[in-house]
Amino acid sequence: IVGYYNGEFVTPDSGIVPLDERGHQFGDGVYEVIRCYNGRPFLLDWHLDRLWMSLQALRIVPPFTKDECASLIERLIAESREPESAIYLQVTRGSAVRNHLFPEPTVKANVSATVRPVTSQTSKAPGTLLMMADERWANAWIKTINLLPNILAKQTAHDMGADEALLVRDGAMIESASSNLWFVRDNQLITAPADRYILNGITRRFVMELANQLGIVVRESKLPVEELTKVDGIFITGTLTEVFPIQRVVTHPDLPYASLPAVKGSEPLAADKCQVAWEA
Ligand code: PMP
Repeated sequence: IVGYYNGEFVTPDSGIVPLDERGHQFGDGVYEVIRCYNGRPFLLDWHLDRLWMSLQALRIVPPFTKDECASLIERLIAESREPESAIYLQVTRGSAVRNHLFPEPTVKANVSATVRPVTSQTSKAPGTLLMMADERWANAWIKTINLLPNILAKQTAHDMGADEALLVRDGAMIESASSNLWFVRDNQLITAPADRYILNGITRRFVMELANQLGIVVRESKLPVEELTKVDGIFITGTLTEVFPIQRVVTHPDLPYASLPAVKGSEPLAADKCQVAWEA
């Protein structure tokens, strides 16, 4: 695995991140994951555009131009010599004495990256989603490194034998913990609109283009939980998830409104209490 920190190639476990790094202390940063196929970064321009949107949203001054960032990604791919890889690129506000306020004067943003080999998910058997409440903040459209609600949701899903979370906000099924959520109904595709509550996935956009080319109607609307039983198919999409079919959706009686059981010190969730809410 190739590592990179502020201009140097490093081993990923080299421990060179300063203690007063704002990404480390506050989660004050943004990231992208770019998939490399046959030694080429896939949909790189879309990833760079979204990275710039995230940086702008948090008022982090980009430490490079988009062209320089694209060259860095080429260098990372060359250094890794992996034809099939996941490039993780992170930009944080920088290093400064711990203070909630942005450093004044502005410090240079820190750039880190890793490249690891990956293989396609497409041959995997269809998966299971565990339904739970979306507990993320109201700016999920920004790709920040603050992923605690996402990792808790994904871990809870995993603990219950599911592959991913199905996140419900205001009664609608809008997204998964690390992928976008799609429904098939009456030969149309339904996915949540790219408002502030979901990440506008690059793969989501790509699937929309493919659907367009194939003459398949895509409806961007929020599907209420009550309509789950009326859908014909479900899949999730993401840079590393690619297009992943779903076999069933399960619910858990102790998880009606949360990704964690509400009562502190309560019994661990029992996987055998999961109930099937939808099956392909
Ligand atoms: N939603 C969330 C919450 C994600 O973290 C991701 C990225 N893994 C996605 C959707 C999919 O986005 P993309 O297709 O750009 O990878």
